[in-house]
Amino acid sequence: MLSKLYPKMYVTSLFQIDLEDLKQRGIKSILFDIDNTVIPWDSHKMAPEIERWFRSLSEQGFKVCFVSNNNEHRVSKLCSSLQVPGVHRAAKPRRRGLRQALRLLGTKINETAFVGDQVFTDVLAGNRLGVYTILVSPLAGKEFIGTKINRQLEKLVLKRIKRKTQG
Ligand SMILES: [Mg+2]
Repeated sequence: MLSKLYPKMYVTSLFQIDLEDLKQRGIKSILFDIDNTVIPWDSHKMAPEIERWFRSLSEQGFKVCFVSNNNEHRVSKLCSSLQVPGVHRAAKPRRRGLRQALRLLGTKINETAFVGDQVFTDVLAGNRLGVYTILVSPLAGKEFIGTKINRQLEKLVLKRIKRKTQG
């Protein structure tokens, strides 16, 4: 059970995914979670550099499909902008949504990778089905840590200012 939580690959950014390595493993299709994997959960738009990366995936011959537990509106908006299929309300960690994605792409389990930011939904669902699982650091998490650091710095600066004005 515990081993089902371990991804086959761990990266801190989508750009770190070694596409040549995936090709050598026979991977032809890549499924992606949406929230915090390709778009921050609190945003509606994909960053332009990520959008470019997705276009390069298609150019390199990879088939792409999104598999999200989020609603139809969120999923279809992204899918239509990138012109790729998607599965909404996928109910990960259940395998149902991933199986649906495989059918949509006409791809096999051993030819497919799944990229997501959460161990208990994405990695678990992918490992249960047997696809090649890739865990990526969450997008919004990074921003949140950045905000926290900024707040700490802010505190220090404010302290100094107070001291100066009092002294
Ligand atoms: Mg996610």
